Amino acid sequence: MRVHHLNCGTLRPFGGGLVDGRAGLLRKATMVCHCLLVETDDGLVLVDSGLGVDDVTNPDASLPRFFQRITQPVFEVGETAVRQVVRLGYRPEDVRHVVLTHLDLDHAGGLRDFPHAKVHVHAAEHRGAMARATAADRRRFRPAQWSHGPDWQTYETAGERWFGFEAVHELNGLAADILMVPLAGHTLGHTGVAVRTGPTWLLHCGDAYFFHGEPRSADDCPRGLRLFQRLVETDRAARLSNQDRLRTLVADHGDEVETISAHDPVELHRYQPQPTP
Ligand SMILES: [Zn+2]
Repeated sequence: MRVHHLNCGTLRPFGGGLVDGRAGLLRKATMVCHCLLVETDDGLVLVDSGLGVDDVTNPDASLPRFFQRITQPVFEVGETAVRQVVRLGYRPEDVRHVVLTHLDLDHAGGLRDFPHAKVHVHAAEHRGAMARATAADRRRFRPAQWSHGPDWQTYETAGERWFGFEAVHELNGLAADILMVPLAGHTLGHTGVAVRTGPTWLLHCGDAYFFHGEPRSADDCPRGLRLFQRLVETDRAARLSNQDRLRTLVADHGDEVETISAHDPVELHRYQPQPTP
């Protein structure tokens, strides 16, 4: 399966090296919204959807000021998944499936641009995002992003195993080369999405970790980014335990599984060498 690595939203938070680990504190850092576009026999599959056209052209309608102030999005419509799909020579309706790591506003924003797609998400995530039971949930889950009524496909965790993790193997309408690997903590129904790429697997870990050093060392994360992860977590014990499990996976099976997170520009550039703004 051919996999395209897309940045579907550049974020420029203040904090410089406290966020991205590079030199200088009095500058903006760069974060990306790393999405995958997978060419399969079942059509195109988008893994995470970043910010959508409506988010970047009319941000105040769907993105809270709080999010805009903290993350300082660039709002470039050319970065949206749908515009990149078209640039690659496809039509938006060729995207038959969207598989989401979770429903936070910087991951679900592109849903409206693919109204014909089935949207696969963990059942616990769907329940939490629809309920919006806490103030934090009302900030992060934005009903405007699914006001078109997506064709939701929800899944409880099944007991099948994938490198020691529980996994949902059968996503409705998709081959077993794409599966959900629950990694709760950041949100209650947060999952990774594993994509078989020939002999090896690519595991999109969403927001289970944020910095490229973390899959090898718990200490390898800039202080600001470490704090940010704590501020936006839903279940700390689950999040830290899943990060530990990811480190064990990388230590034991690093030659079979590559991990990526949603927001790390260094990881994105391993696959997509263009510079970020
Ligand atoms: Zn995120």
